[in-house]
Amino acid sequence: MSSSAQQSVTLIGLGPMGLAMAEALLDRGYAVTLWNRTASRADDLVARGAFLASSPAAAVAANEVVILSLTDYAAVDAVLEPAASALKGRVLVNLTSATPEEARAGSRLAAERGAAQLTGGVNSAPSGIGQPESSTFYSGPREVFDRHRPVLEALTGQVDHRGEDPGLAALLYQIGVGMFWTSMLGYWQAVALARANGLTAADILPTARETADTLSQLSAFYAERIDAGVHVGDVDRLAMGMASVEHVLRTNADVGVDTALPAAVVDLFRRGMDAGHGADSFSSLVDVMGKPGK
Ligand code: NDP
Repeated sequence: MSSSAQQSVTLIGLGPMGLAMAEALLDRGYAVTLWNRTASRADDLVARGAFLASSPAAAVAANEVVILSLTDYAAVDAVLEPAASALKGRVLVNLTSATPEEARAGSRLAAERGAAQLTGGVNSAPSGIGQPESSTFYSGPREVFDRHRPVLEALTGQVDHRGEDPGLAALLYQIGVGMFWTSMLGYWQAVALARANGLTAADILPTARETADTLSQLSAFYAERIDAGVHVGDVDRLAMGMASVEHVLRTNADVGVDTALPAAVVDLFRRGMDAGHGADSFSSLVDVMGKPGK
């Protein structure tokens, strides 16, 4: 790569994600300035040619583009507060998990200090960073996204800009992560039930995969109906679902598996029944869980 200002970046935060990002940037020939609270985590990267800044302010001052990969926005504040005077003219690529409101407040604070923020939601485990199939979605100023696209693509092969609202990427990220945690807990529950019955996680893998495929197909099927406000019980009825989730609860209880999760599911279905949705599709639970925003 030929040298240019954009091939020199700062990366703050060397957890598993930041470490993978630093590796990807070095692999692609970027000059990388690092800062991490625990400096020793940068040792291998420094051996590869990265520069370790002596303070957050020095790290921020070193480059126009500053990538932040921290645990949460409390950590972002802790790092950026002492670097406030160095922020003017900087582009913060903030890949730190946050609520939408935290991302918006962080973006406003950055603007007050003369910096622009792109909020990012990384759709990849650290092992996928730098791979062409990995992706990150961003929100914030479009012009900033377009200008710095090459460095964003060095982190994950695919990037896209979802909107100007700096909170949007955080919202989309939390939506995806919320589905991820609840779905994975559903899987852990399935494995616990299998093991209580003498089966292994490998034994139930075909069933787990079929169920995950079904979820993917049904998401598209129900999205159209939900957006049209249609919960007609032609394909499924909540009353049928109520009986089904009670079977799941009892199957777990019978072999002494924790019932917190299936009981919470039964509780939601029961509230749908109490609200008079027994003959409707179980998609009517969406309206029980929260009212439509538009
Ligand atoms: P970690 O929480 O493991 O690492 C975070 C980094 O934050 C470390 O460098 C840590 O420093 C630093 N840190 C935490 N608190 C403070 C503080 N008060 N002051 C200064 N530095 C602090 O996170 P990951 O690397 O796994 O992930 C980074 C972000 O990416 C998170 O927001 C996460 O939600 C998101 N993400 C992670 C994925 C994953 O699979 N890991 C997947 C997609 C997104 P130190 O080394 O000193 O502890």
